[in-house]
Parts: sequence; structure tokens; C-alpha cells
Amino acid sequence: MATAYITHRDCLLHDMGSIHPEAAIRLQAIQDHLIATGLMDLLHPVDAPNVTREQLERVHLPSYIDELEAIRPKGTLVQLDPDTAMNEYTLVAARRAAGAVIKGTEMVIAGDVENAFCAVRPPGHHAEPNRAMGFCFFNNVAVGVAHALQALGLKRIAVVDFDVHHGNGTELMFRGDERVLMASTFQHPFYPWMEIVEYPNMIHVPLPAGSNGTAFRDGIETKWFPVLEEFAPEMIFVSAGFDGHFQDDLGQLRLTEADFGWVTEKIVEVARRHADGRVVSVLEGGYVPDALGRSVGHHLRALMRLND
Ligand SMILES: [Zn+2]
Repeated sequence: MATAYITHRDCLLHDMGSIHPEAAIRLQAIQDHLIATGLMDLLHPVDAPNVTREQLERVHLPSYIDELEAIRPKGTLVQLDPDTAMNEYTLVAARRAAGAVIKGTEMVIAGDVENAFCAVRPPGHHAEPNRAMGFCFFNNVAVGVAHALQALGLKRIAVVDFDVHHGNGTELMFRGDERVLMASTFQHPFYPWMEIVEYPNMIHVPLPAGSNGTAFRDGIETKWFPVLEEFAPEMIFVSAGFDGHFQDDLGQLRLTEADFGWVTEKIVEVARRHADGRVVSVLEGGYVPDALGRSVGHHLRALMRLND
């Protein structure tokens, strides 16, 4: 069965200034790499729809969505926090990014494809119910999880997050929700500086700056997978951040493309044992275009099981 590649050209229009690392070149680098390596020919391309207001309101406060819609910059940037700004097209891109995850969720649950990768921006995992932060506006993965639970009838969903930064927004949205198990690994202490609070449905693998793939794999192997096996999710969402790569300046981990391929293979194995292979993976961070393209290549090869 196929892997969907869900994106939209509108995701290129959001721009936070010429020196901002979260830029359209990231999606172009991914696409260039997939075309150059022939991987794009093996993917099932899908255009992302717009998310609806109802779908957003499952995880964001209506007043927050109203605030964003009221900003409407025209030819200027409006800063929401020191790292996060809106241009004229930010919400146009953000609606496609969250809509991509809705589409991927529906396709995977319908059995149209085995799994899906959403090549979208802005990213989402720092977005809180009522706050944009850390380059994020709408929490794309959380919107997909809520759709699977509330509209499509699933009862047990796992979220895994291997971005170098802690997925504080997703965590706030699902803490204490027994239907969701979130397993994350991240550099710690580090942005977003959220205190790690233990909840039964939150598994944390904090890694000190300088950690390499051995520490990453050991932590995940011992802390994530026994609990994921026991939970037996019906579907897995991935906050796929590639900024733990050793070449990426936005974090200080020492991961390689092979580490991202390894964790993806392990996720796919769990999904095949418990969830009919259902995985929706969503781009979060990754800011060195070449390294990002190669990392996504390894991630997609594992989703497509080309290494089996
Ligand atoms: Zn990140």
C-alpha cells in the first residue's frame, strides 16, 4: 500500500523575514531531494485541503482563532512572540498545514493509503490552545488526533514526537486524556523551557545537549516502546522534527539521518502490529535545507518500507 505525500503550494507563502530559519526553502529542499532520489515517483501526491473552523476548535479556543483572524497584516510582519510572526499569508498556509493532517487522517483510516507524510509549514507542536509560539500557530498534529477521536471514532491514539524541542502545545492539549499516549524525546533543558511534569499518558525522554544517536536510541528503546506496545494504539501520529540533526544549529543534539530512519522503522513496526500500519507523520522542525531533505528521505524510506 502507498504512502501519501500531502502538501500545498500555499505553505510556501508564509514568511517571517529574510533571515528567519523557518522558511519556504525547507519545503523546496525536501521536494528537491525526493525528486533527485526518485522517491517522489513512489509517493502518492495529495493536495492539502483547508482545515475548518470546527476542526480547529477541537484543540484551540475560539477566542484565539478570532485573534489570529483579526490581525491580517498587509505587506508587513506582525510579531506574536520574539520568534513567531505573521505575514499576509500566514493563516492561508496554516489552514493548509492543519488541513493536510485532516486529509492524511481520513485517507489512512479509510484505507486509501497505509500511511501519510504531511510536508507542511508552519509547524505546529508548540502551538498551545490559546497561544502561538515557537514558529507555530495551529497545532497540526493535535488537530488530526482530535479529528480521529471525535469525528472518526478511534479510541486509542499514540503521538510520538522526536523534534529537538519539547512539544509543549501537544502535551498541554492531551495531558490526562486516557485516549492519547504521547511519547516524546527532546533536548533538555532547552526551549520551550516547559517544566517536565509526569502524567500517566506522557512519556518523556529528555536528552542533554551533545547527546548522540546511541543515547537517542537507548532512551527511546527502553522508555517509549514497551509502553507503546502495551497501549496498542489504533493509529500513530508523528511530530517529525529533524532539528536534532548534528548539522542543525537550532539544537545541540548529534543525530544523523540514519537515526531518524531507525526511529521511523520502529514506529512503523508498532503501527503494523497494532494499528493496521496507520501512521500520519507531520513535519515539525529541521532548518538546514540539505540535512532536512536527506533526513526526510530516510524517514520516507522507512514509512514506505523500502529497507525491508
Ligand atoms: Zn524544533
